Amino acid sequence: MNVFHEELLSRLGELREQGLYRELRRIDSPQGAAAQFEGRSLLNFSSNDYLGLANEPSVREAAIKAIEKYGAGSGASRLVCGSLGPHMELEEALAEFKGTQAALTFSSGYAAVIGTIGALVDSNDVIVVDKLVHACVVDAARLSGAKLRVFGHNNLDDLENILQWANRRHEEASVQPSSRQPRTLVVTESVFSMDGDQAPLRELVEIKERHGAWLMVDEAHSTGLYGPSRRGLAEELGVSNRIEIQMGTLGKAFGASGGYVCGHRALIHLLINRARSFIFSTAPVPAAAAAATAGVRFVQSAAGEERRQTLWRNVAEISKELRPPVKFAGHTERITKPSAIIPIMIGAEGKAMEFARQLLAQGVLIPAIRFPTVSRGQARLRLTVSAAHTPSQINQLLGVLHDVLHVGPQA
Ligand SMILES: *Cc1c(COP(=O)(O)O)cnc(C)c1O
Repeated sequence: MNVFHEELLSRLGELREQGLYRELRRIDSPQGAAAQFEGRSLLNFSSNDYLGLANEPSVREAAIKAIEKYGAGSGASRLVCGSLGPHMELEEALAEFKGTQAALTFSSGYAAVIGTIGALVDSNDVIVVDKLVHACVVDAARLSGAKLRVFGHNNLDDLENILQWANRRHEEASVQPSSRQPRTLVVTESVFSMDGDQAPLRELVEIKERHGAWLMVDEAHSTGLYGPSRRGLAEELGVSNRIEIQMGTLGKAFGASGGYVCGHRALIHLLINRARSFIFSTAPVPAAAAAATAGVRFVQSAAGEERRQTLWRNVAEISKELRPPVKFAGHTERITKPSAIIPIMIGAEGKAMEFARQLLAQGVLIPAIRFPTVSRGQARLRLTVSAAHTPSQINQLLGVLHDVLHVGPQA
């Protein structure tokens, strides 16, 4: 045992030396504009609770009611006896919200991606992902056994070349008598989680259609925030019904937890039969499903629209001060619409950590994001904005950013 522990301690030491050591921070308050940490109240600019729904009374109430009626646990996997009323209601609400035939929910967005990609492609197929997709897509692609190819971030020429290569590969493969036609699945995010920039979804849809590939879009950071019905960026760009697999999380703008996939009934039925993270896992607790349904309903309400407007006002207020000096992010040049994710690029891991520590000392919580979440030497402070932030909290943030980073109004 000692040898085992020593080995692990030496690995941890290496992480520390590289500025890559991570540790948990205990927060003693609900999610919101402020976070209670070690007896202090911090301004929280790190949460993905974009619309301030995580502690919204109607969302809380829905969770409490579900516990009263269905209890705390869900008892079994969905296919055994764990598909409770709240799960079915959530899936109906999601399909209606997204304007798709059907929806399926998972215990997390991570599980949704792992299960979905694994159900759709295997070693006969090719999976093509944007260089900056979330870790769960990379993990899912590897686990699926499909041939993995990465295209440069938002680089359509690169994607085009890879899809041509994939089709040549498929043609060669189909000369042999194999069980089914090999497929190509393209996966991207609509709003990228660590950069806040956006994928050119219209162009991507055209390219994948031209090459007969399938497209999966992860809308984790855009559902609830974009589009006339707040369905996401695909709706805003008018391409929702040309995307085979629309995926997202219930843990960000919806204020609850879980993951979802929306699409054709055939897709959902295939996932129920083949998605291993769905089949071999206990159903989410009823409280989580009910809270998510309340979140979906809130987003669609007039109050939801008001929250969205407040969020964009807050984003405008902050980016007005920050955008110019943070532009050197290089790959964030293609910003088309505002995003609630505002990265402040630092570069060196240690330096980003030091800035995060100084911000914390001044009462502002903005985490340093480092490798392996982003590439080495691309460390950044990832500032996220919520509708819950008040104008005075935003002023306070801008003052602290000016003091610590010398960016902002007086810079
Ligand atoms: C957060 C996130 C996920 C994972 O969703 P969870 O519900 O947190 O597991 C997937 N993709 C992207 C882009 C994300 O930001």
